[in-house]
Amino acid sequence: MNTTDYDAVVVGSGPNGLAAAIELQQAGLSVLLLEGKDQIGGGLRTAELTLPGFQHDICSAIHPLAAASPFFQTLPLAQYGLEYITPPVSAAHPFDDGTAATVVTSLADTARALGADERAYRTLLEPLVASWPHIAQDVLAPLHFPSDPLAMAQFGLPALLPATALTSRFQTKQARGLFAGMAAHAIQPLSNLTTSAIGLVLLIAAHRQGWPLPKGGSQAIADALAAHFVALGGSIQTGTYVRHLADIPLAKAVLFDITPAQLLQIAGHSLSSIYQWQLRRYQYGMGVFKIDWALDAPIPFTAEGCAQAGTVHLGGTLEEIAATEKAATRGHHPERPFVLLAQQSLFDATRAPAGKHTAWAYCHVPNGSRVDMTTAIEQQVERFAPGFRDRIIGRHTFDTAQMEAYNPNYVGGDINGGLLDVTQLFTRPALRVSPYRTSRSGMYLCSSATPPGGGVHGMCGYHAASRALRDIFHLSPSSLYREASASALR
Ligand SMILES: Cc1cc2nc3c(=O)[nH]c(=O)nc-3n(C[C@H](O)[C@H](O)[C@H](O)COP(=O)(O)OP(=O)(O)OC[C@H]3O[C@@H](n4cnc5c(N)ncnc54)[C@H](O)[C@@H]3O)c2cc1C
Repeated sequence: MNTTDYDAVVVGSGPNGLAAAIELQQAGLSVLLLEGKDQIGGGLRTAELTLPGFQHDICSAIHPLAAASPFFQTLPLAQYGLEYITPPVSAAHPFDDGTAATVVTSLADTARALGADERAYRTLLEPLVASWPHIAQDVLAPLHFPSDPLAMAQFGLPALLPATALTSRFQTKQARGLFAGMAAHAIQPLSNLTTSAIGLVLLIAAHRQGWPLPKGGSQAIADALAAHFVALGGSIQTGTYVRHLADIPLAKAVLFDITPAQLLQIAGHSLSSIYQWQLRRYQYGMGVFKIDWALDAPIPFTAEGCAQAGTVHLGGTLEEIAATEKAATRGHHPERPFVLLAQQSLFDATRAPAGKHTAWAYCHVPNGSRVDMTTAIEQQVERFAPGFRDRIIGRHTFDTAQMEAYNPNYVGGDINGGLLDVTQLFTRPALRVSPYRTSRSGMYLCSSATPPGGGVHGMCGYHAASRALRDIFHLSPSSLYREASASALR
């Protein structure tokens, strides 16, 4: 094809690259999506990593953010085979005494099970769950004056707090540990400002629609997005790894689903020296060590509720989780790391042969770590599920270097495309009028290194594409998103 046939090229087909490509294509442009790997999807791929017949999510597994994404909700993804399965318990958090705190869709039931903290939990979450459609407008977007200042203040005040401070509202170890596990998704010390934000967003999502997983694996989300993009007339080219700007066909706009370190390698020389300086200052956070298991039976958790949970947080008390996250940030490898575990096959029979199971887990480690955390992670599972190790029939691991070799966006094993702390939450990758614009006209960043950051929601891609539509093509962003937002607000 003649290279000038495209209005826009998107480099990288993660959820944000796919979202950007769809947003541009549905505005009537001609769009090429380039992917370095042979398969599209970025963090949304599923493969037989251990044994034949066992389907493992290589990166993301649980999708409260995808299901709640204002942009994805406007797309007809079910038409392309995407089916979400919602486990009865979104997340369980077991303790050494054999009990577990559990989050179910009913906020009232979740709160009641927290005993003495029932009232504190309801007081914190009920108004936020009710106002979420208003709050989402502002939280899942670049920094701007809030469209609903009151709702935003209601969310922003607790969200700004370190998780270690917000948990002082709770008195039971169950509520404190549960919130610590949620906040630990921020992948930084729980004493950092804004670590409560991710904990609150995840709990709000649990109480609005649960934490679903896609039938067949995360790849199903990427496949549905790609099928929709192609149905709109878009083109996809895989196996095309971009090393230089010259590798990209000529287009009026180029959107990169990559992080600042890669942009500097590919296009550094064409960017202003101030912008290059800003990008070089961008910080990456902790990495992850990831394990997938093939099992000959479900994980034998002691605590009631864990067997109904799609996700299990293994780390014990607030104090223990806070200590392990701080240690990993400081370059240590905790003996008892905080482990995020998903058990997809309990709810989705397509993941494993009859009677067999899969499980997925990771822990946080120092950026760039080469330490094998297999024993530490498996001991942590065994602590809450004695007999677990006897059920393992296959295992696959990724350290941070293998993670980055698999996907160069995971710099040093950082799965969020850069540290999500208060200094980089809204202004990633740099403080600019629009964080999506680079210093070069027509060149944009659209990855999780832009607001609102990591996770599968496509909102970075949507906002970057909206910016390019206005700047370069003098077009309005999709009215679909505005209509969906308006109806959510009604
Ligand atoms: C182990 C793990 C567990 C996770 N769990 C969850 C979870 O449960 N839920 C959740 O919501 N999120 C989860 N995440 C995070 C989520 O996967 C990411 O935040 C999300 O995928 C980021 O999307 P993206 O489009 O910005 O980038 P990516 O998904 O990383 O996609 C980038 C794409 O660009 C391609 N690319 C990069 N450089 C080039 C180049 N030079 N030329 C061509 N192509 C290139 C890559 O191959 C890749 O396909 C997890 C991530 C990991 C690694």
